[in-house]
Amino acid sequence: MSAHCRTSAFVALAVCAALVGAPAAGAQDKAAAPPDRAGLADTTFAAATVKPAVPVRAFPFDLKKVRLLDGPFKTAMDRDLAYMKSLEADRLLHMFRVTAGLPSDAEAYGGWEKSDVEVRGHSTGHFLSAAALMYASTGDAEIKAKADAVVAGLAECQKALGTSGYLGAFPETFFDRVESVRTVWAPYYTIHKIMAGLVDMAEHCGSGQALEVAAGMARWVKSRTDKSDAAHMERVLNFTEQGGMNEVLANLYAITGKAEYLATARRFDERKYTEPLIHGVDKMKGEHVNSFIPNIIGSAREYEMTGDPVLRRLVTFFWNEVTGARSFVTGGTSDNEAWESDPYQIYEELGANSHESCCTYNMLKLTRHLFSWEAAARYFDYYERALWNGILSTQNPSDGMMMYYVPMKPGMYRTFMKPLDSFWCCTGTGMENHAKYGDSIYFHDDTGVFVNLFIASELDWTEKGVRIRQDTRFPDDPMTTITIGAGKPVRLALRIRVPVWAAGPCVVRLNGKAIEVTSSPSSYLTIDREWKGGERLEVDLPMALRLESLPDRPDVAAFVYGPIVLAGALGGGDKLTEDMVYGKYGPEGEPVRVPYFDVKPTDPLDTWIKSVAGMPLTFRTSYAGKPEDVTLVPFYKLFGERYTIYWQIGEPPQRRER
Ligand SMILES: [Zn+2]
Repeated sequence: MSAHCRTSAFVALAVCAALVGAPAAGAQDKAAAPPDRAGLADTTFAAATVKPAVPVRAFPFDLKKVRLLDGPFKTAMDRDLAYMKSLEADRLLHMFRVTAGLPSDAEAYGGWEKSDVEVRGHSTGHFLSAAALMYASTGDAEIKAKADAVVAGLAECQKALGTSGYLGAFPETFFDRVESVRTVWAPYYTIHKIMAGLVDMAEHCGSGQALEVAAGMARWVKSRTDKSDAAHMERVLNFTEQGGMNEVLANLYAITGKAEYLATARRFDERKYTEPLIHGVDKMKGEHVNSFIPNIIGSAREYEMTGDPVLRRLVTFFWNEVTGARSFVTGGTSDNEAWESDPYQIYEELGANSHESCCTYNMLKLTRHLFSWEAAARYFDYYERALWNGILSTQNPSDGMMMYYVPMKPGMYRTFMKPLDSFWCCTGTGMENHAKYGDSIYFHDDTGVFVNLFIASELDWTEKGVRIRQDTRFPDDPMTTITIGAGKPVRLALRIRVPVWAAGPCVVRLNGKAIEVTSSPSSYLTIDREWKGGERLEVDLPMALRLESLPDRPDVAAFVYGPIVLAGALGGGDKLTEDMVYGKYGPEGEPVRVPYFDVKPTDPLDTWIKSVAGMPLTFRTSYAGKPEDVTLVPFYKLFGERYTIYWQIGEPPQRRER
């Protein structure tokens, strides 16, 4: 949030699967029972859930059923966990206690959590979401205990604030300012984060207390917004960021079955955003990106709860437009927090303050919804690209600190949060990002599993009595191995995503012997058979180097290898001081000079760029760079120096003009 970012916390689909259960109708869905009701049996709400009103073609697994194995994602998750453990419950609660008139001798955190910053408290919500996801992903009891303590503290504050259900780290008078359209940062945005954190605690940690506090907040939101007619509500929404209020309220409806939550959710639908989308019109230029996306996630969730086809139409159009006409090669989007250009005009968007991390986080959430409706591989073609290049790449491997903007402007450098003095929106979504890598590797229907992502992991599909282990060193090694664990033979359709980037047929070996399969890019290859424990499937994933040009500038392009975006290592790390790098949303100053490539677009790539022997995914240009050649490495591995993702291919226009 600028800032003015917004995000929202993961919930939707997992709630859909784990709490809300299987859809009401649809032959292929009837056996797809929620995988992990048992973990919620001790809470009061597990029985009162609403099934989706629409057919669901693929369900996520409960995060508890997936464990990451060694690899870059597990390493990033471990770093995130270490950071989260360094945060203190009393400091996360301090301004809530002050606001509620309760004693607190803790110190407020810095940055956006300082006692005079108007979005204070949002990080406490993000922490709860991230802790709930982290507990589900790892079973780490310490992080759960800390999050439980925060929930208990929030419950005390809510009680001390009266009977309305209001809870915040700032007084309720902030909402008077919103309603009278007087300057205030984003109180609904902040409330959304807290509610989403509580709902995540209910879902992943079975916290009845968290659900109770969230329900109290929803009651307060309803009474507060009931006073506004439709026109006033629209004015309020256009004036302030509200994050995913519609999403979290729809999730609460799904959990509790209380129709008033769904009705209140719909009051947060921003018609300014949705009306053009319904008619297939992109009027997104000038809009604040991370306000827009969460509101459409809410529309997606409302579609699942209501079955209204108009909602599905607008969500689908939006997703196609953002991923097709408004995204960088990394899967990220936005420049200076907005869409500043018309569709397909990406060149102007290559800014130093582009690609806000929260936007990628939210696009991934939205993608999960669309995938669940269609089970189409293209959604994971996008997801994979954004996950490697726009999420994994935003955490500093040396200290776990996370990024706000991801500069697309050639010749810039990365900047990071400080551990205790930033607490930006992207710090919050960052904590969540690295806690939930297990949530999308596998989806399922009643007959089998979708293997969407090539990430070392193990899935325990208890209902089927089967464990699926994926061993892979992808992308360093272009293959993955699936091993079935089962006490007795099990009929199962194993569906492996054939990526859109596959540079040839995916050779498949069953128990060491090549088998015939059909594999076309951006589809699933399916092995439907009876599996015995110990059987093994190996799948080659042929990767190749390619250039992807900007739609509006065919002479400006990025190198991509499989799904992995390569960046040019430009050096200059010794001149990047701690002051330039830490505690900054984005880089400052001028970019360094970036070489161009003196080649023709028709020159075969292998004539001017070669792989570097012994170094996977590393390439070096050969007699092509002017004034010098460059080395390219995966963007997600390139830290501590200046970089370029987009390159001028052929002589730059200004030189040609001279
Ligand atoms: Zn952000």
